[in-house]
Amino acid sequence: MKLVVIGGDAAGMSAASQARKRSGVDDLQITVFERGHFTSYSACGIPYWIGGHVTDRAALITRTPQEFAKQDIDVRLRHEVTGIDLDRREVVARRVDGPAGEIREGFDHLMYAAGAVPVTPPWPGVDARGVFGVQTLDDGAAIHAWLDAHPAPRRAVVIGGGYIGVEMAEAMVRRGLDVTLLEKSPEPMSTVDPDMGARVRKAILGLGIAIRTNAHVHGIETTDGRVRAVRTPDDELPADIVVLGLGVRPNTTLAADAGIPLGETGGLRTDLRMRLLGGGRLDGVWAAGDCVESVHRISGRPVHVPLGTHANKQGRVAGINIGGGYATFPGVIGTAVTKVCELEVARTGLTEHEARAAGYAYVTASVESTSRAGYYPGAATMTIKLIAEKRTGLLLGAQIVGREEAAKRIDALAVAVWNQMTVEEMTGLDLSYAPPFAPVWDPVLIAARKATDAVHATH
Ligand SMILES: Cc1cc2nc3c(=O)[nH]c(=O)nc-3n(C[C@H](O)[C@H](O)[C@H](O)COP(=O)(O)OP(=O)(O)OC[C@H]3O[C@@H](n4cnc5c(N)ncnc54)[C@H](O)[C@@H]3O)c2cc1C
Repeated sequence: MKLVVIGGDAAGMSAASQARKRSGVDDLQITVFERGHFTSYSACGIPYWIGGHVTDRAALITRTPQEFAKQDIDVRLRHEVTGIDLDRREVVARRVDGPAGEIREGFDHLMYAAGAVPVTPPWPGVDARGVFGVQTLDDGAAIHAWLDAHPAPRRAVVIGGGYIGVEMAEAMVRRGLDVTLLEKSPEPMSTVDPDMGARVRKAILGLGIAIRTNAHVHGIETTDGRVRAVRTPDDELPADIVVLGLGVRPNTTLAADAGIPLGETGGLRTDLRMRLLGGGRLDGVWAAGDCVESVHRISGRPVHVPLGTHANKQGRVAGINIGGGYATFPGVIGTAVTKVCELEVARTGLTEHEARAAGYAYVTASVESTSRAGYYPGAATMTIKLIAEKRTGLLLGAQIVGREEAAKRIDALAVAVWNQMTVEEMTGLDLSYAPPFAPVWDPVLIAARKATDAVHATH
């Protein structure tokens, strides 16, 4: 049998490794095509490498092609898959750095793990030198090299105030650049509700990042093909580098060209074992990671949640199944965490907007508390917001904005959402307490109490 993998990062290499663990070399030949220069890298680590938290790029790479070769996984870097022939069960590829010519590779199993592509609006000048999207380690390396090659004074404009935008803004600040963050919505971090986004905006202002909300971009101004400024309806913002953080879309062009149907989010649709839905010509075709859509366990809706945590799990599930085992991916609940400088932002479950769209009637409760006992050195303020179903008190979602030690509290809340707890049940949770770690009433418990009151008030 032969497994061909398209894409050599989180999903693709997790699948390849798991398939190899369960199948001997004589049973399964594994070939991976990767367009870039790296395998099994942490794209999540790119902002921290660019910002200097991590100094060595190699630290972001979990395993190299040489290490995979020891497992008899044949990784072909700088090989781009250009087509999938489902009838002949072959992929068509080319060498990115030449020599020219078509490579055809037959498969019994095909693992589609081509990730996502950054959204790039059709603005004039968006292709200029010095304008970067960020998805792969090659993208990160291009930004790093540009910053190294262009001496001060340097101004950065980051377009898009989502988590990649704010993490890249922090990275630029740490590199000593003047940073302006542009966000088209009234508040940054649209993955949390606007009232929580407002807290993020205020905090960002204190971090040395200029932020413009309700900001629209009309184009990129260039000189000799190189970025000079970002044009808004009102002015031109001088820029030596522009980073696009406008979100990503599933990289499904190859699949669509091969006639594979896409889901309503634009991602590939799989069953629980990460096998493409459809049968027939799609038998033996698997997909995982940023290119697929998942089921949201609370809304029941298909969602595209491009996160490394899912890509690794889904790839692992696919690989186990390809190798003859049995594993399923249980869906997502939208848990995510990020930071910009010392500000931490986290979410799980549904936001208010998502809860409304799913048809829930709900109440909300927000509390301000501290990360440690108020008298213990280093206690920092955090805000926790809970969203609970009106009649039942079921915890639908939670968001946290705070400083050190705030964000990881989202995991307790994620477990509660996952296990369909009510906010009233949560008030009795046996959470840990000692002054250096929490107030005697942990912020999660205070929020659960307030949300319970809000639920009772609706009865
Ligand atoms: C800056 C940044 C920060 C992030 N931070 C976090 C975080 O903190 N937490 C979190 O959970 N997630 C985070 N993510 C998201 C996470 O990195 C992705 O969800 C994860 O990398 C997806 O893995 P994947 O294997 O599906 O896709 P990718 O990692 O995108 O890998 C796909 C690979 O396929 C290759 N490829 C594409 N097309 C072809 C082709 N035609 N032929 C050959 N190869 C091809 C690409 O070169 C790429 O290497 C972050 C992402 C970025 C960009």
